[in-house]
Amino acid sequence: MRAAIVEKIGEITIKDVPKPSPGHEEALVKISTVGVCHSDLHMVKGDWVKVPTPFPLGHEAIGIVEELGPGSEEFVKKGDRVILGLGGTAGAYWCGACEYCLAGKPMLCQRRIQLQGVFAEYFVVWAKALVKLPDEIENNEVPLACAGLTAYSAIKKLAKFGIQAGKTVAIVGAAGGLGHYGIQIAKALGYKVIGVDIGPEKLEFIKKMGADLAVDVSEAVKIVKEQFNGVNASIVFSSKLAGFELGLKLLKRGGVLVAVALPALSEGSFSINPFGFILRGFHIIGSLVGNVQEMRELIQLAADGKVKTHIGRIAKLSEINEVFEELEKAKFVGRAILEID
Ligand SMILES: [Zn+2]
Ligand SMILES: [Zn+2]
Repeated sequence: MRAAIVEKIGEITIKDVPKPSPGHEEALVKISTVGVCHSDLHMVKGDWVKVPTPFPLGHEAIGIVEELGPGSEEFVKKGDRVILGLGGTAGAYWCGACEYCLAGKPMLCQRRIQLQGVFAEYFVVWAKALVKLPDEIENNEVPLACAGLTAYSAIKKLAKFGIQAGKTVAIVGAAGGLGHYGIQIAKALGYKVIGVDIGPEKLEFIKKMGADLAVDVSEAVKIVKEQFNGVNASIVFSSKLAGFELGLKLLKRGGVLVAVALPALSEGSFSINPFGFILRGFHIIGSLVGNVQEMRELIQLAADGKVKTHIGRIAKLSEINEVFEELEKAKFVGRAILEID
């Protein structure tokens, strides 16, 4: 079968590799579509930890279950259309018994195995990680698998801090792959949504996605402070440290900053002044992808028509290098997907 392999940092090759076969509790999925995520680009470029090469690429996929390994039949059937639903982390296996798994945080499980390598004709995956798709969800909704889930899990965490429907939330980096889901999900959960990004074209897109207000980065603090006295939460989907700093500045007292995007290591750290921070009662949390239950909830929201993927580019697997170049140069808005057949 064909698969996209990173042979050395900066280079993706489509290669012929052996078709995998499913082991205990595993299913073989024939891949229909895959989504291209920004973290794929970071991995190819070696921006984060250096992954030893060669490695297979891709962690957002929709496909059809073709073959079942022993013990998997309790969880999926042959012919089921499924989303490989946990994005870059915990999607291939988690233990189910440690303190993190039992607390609903399999992403923190020390025995978790990352889902990686769906840019291929076939992929073998732990059957318990699969989420079955209703007919309403089309194959090109595949970025729900990571980008959508990541946005959903980040916004769902607000309720734990008493930030319920009706409160005001800023989405920083609102026109991007994660941000455009963030707007729709926050609206579906009843929040008042302020989308923040750069330039008139992106602000127009943010309004189209349903934000109550779209503001440019350059005037976000002024407008948000004047009109709302700050926001209850900032969700940062921008992978620039400036986005984290802006998110903090937008908060009102007791506000929550949810950090989602992972900047390149070369960006360094962002600093917090403890004096202002303590007196104003901020919370800062990180949010990493999501879990299977959150994937099911998001699929339901999408099936109900409340969340829709904005596709900026559709290509074939063989065009993968062009798509990555375009992604790096931000040549399209929204997500890119690859059709595998
Ligand atoms: Zn991803
Ligand atoms: Zn565990």
